[in-house]
Amino acid sequence: MSKECIACGKTDLTKNEIGINIKLLGEKTEAYYCMDCLADYLEVSVQDILDKIEEFKEEGCKLFS
Ligand SMILES: [Zn+2]
Repeated sequence: MSKECIACGKTDLTKNEIGINIKLLGEKTEAYYCMDCLADYLEVSVQDILDKIEEFKEEGCKLFS
């Protein structure tokens, strides 16, 4: 399943990008953002999002690779 960023149209979002959208926007989200646009949307830095992804990975979350 291929997703694209609704803000900038970037295609082929990575597994981690899709995973963090689901985590932060909710499982039922129909809007997916790339890393840059998600950071912009949430008013955080890209690094904050990368840190979050690492946290979820450490918890063993299967949404991330
Ligand atoms: Zn984008």
